[in-house]
Amino acid sequence: MTDNNTEDKNNIAEKKVDNVEKQIVKETKEKQGFDKVSWKPKTSMGKKVKNDEITDIDEILDRGLKILEEGIVDSLIQNINTELLLIGQSKGKFGGGQRRIFKQTQKKTQEGNKPHFAIYACVGDNNGHIGLGYGKSKETVPAREKALRRAKLNIIKLRRGCGSWQCGCKMPHTIPFAVKGKCGSCTIELIPAPKGTGLCIESECQKILKLAGIKDVWSKTKGQTKTKINLISACFDALKNLIRVKAGSRYFEELGIIEGKTTEKVEEDGKDSDNQS
Ligand SMILES: [Zn+2]
Repeated sequence: MTDNNTEDKNNIAEKKVDNVEKQIVKETKEKQGFDKVSWKPKTSMGKKVKNDEITDIDEILDRGLKILEEGIVDSLIQNINTELLLIGQSKGKFGGGQRRIFKQTQKKTQEGNKPHFAIYACVGDNNGHIGLGYGKSKETVPAREKALRRAKLNIIKLRRGCGSWQCGCKMPHTIPFAVKGKCGSCTIELIPAPKGTGLCIESECQKILKLAGIKDVWSKTKGQTKTKINLISACFDALKNLIRVKAGSRYFEELGIIEGKTTEKVEEDGKDSDNQS
């Protein structure tokens, strides 16, 4: 009897989490538009942003300053997109093992099981800026808030270009050189690919690269890539390496390297390629 009761309870809890997940994914997609007028900045950087003294996020990132408020990123980057990455899996008999945005863990106590929820959030503008954040809480919604906040504070800018010898078009559709990233036993290598290749990489990393604005890439992985958290962190580490690597000024011309935002010309090219396909 006790076994049945606990099983029923588990199933009910499972269904609840399912519904919450659907709601959260919906909300994050619909949640758009930041009200700059009613925002009250607390830090000196935030005040400068509100008074339009700083108008570009690259000004902050180039100086290596720490961003301490979400509002700074929200007001400086228009059309910011968010994505929740699938890092966990559902339990239970019926269709168990499906990918979930929550990684659910439990602690056994005298009162019963204490669940915790962890979420990985990804923030980007599809144009050379990307941020990742990990949040963990006893409830599902605060975990998302934490993850989103950390993702916005962790924002970095990337280098894009055309490092593929088969292509050589000098357009920023891929990465300018191969980079490696590591977290735990997971190693990931991103390799420049010619135009039209697409993202030949694991599905969660695809979401990250898409938000970063990279269109073509090849990849190699090594280690326990089942551990999604480590794989995602390794991918972010590799993207950080794009800006860490020192490149001489002549490579900027040869490979068409662009840091951060691209010009309007490239966007037009993107539209053209869409029409052709
Ligand atoms: Zn190219």
